[in-house]
Amino acid sequence: MNCRSCGAEVGAGAAYCPSCGRPMSPVPTGHVDQMADEAAQAARDLVRAAGRLSQALLTKVEKAGHDPPGTAKRAVDKLVVELKAAKAEIDKALKDLE
Ligand SMILES: [Zn+2]
Repeated sequence: MNCRSCGAEVGAGAAYCPSCGRPMSPVPTGHVDQMADEAAQAARDLVRAAGRLSQALLTKVEKAGHDPPGTAKRAVDKLVVELKAAKAEIDKALKDLE
């Protein structure tokens, strides 16, 4: 079998991974770590994407000198609503863990 944390080959029945030292318990600790990493990565991607969008909108509006059809404002409003919804989902998940 392989260590769920580092992927190293581990002999059957080993209590700990000889490579990274994580417990090879039936509880998939490495999997939980991986999920936490994935969630953190997704959050970082989201923040970066929101920053890029804000910057792009600012550049576009500055170049045009105005935002006549309210395109930038609509896009930002929509983004804020969706980010707040994501935050609410996270808060709910945290509450469920308590
Ligand atoms: Zn390992």
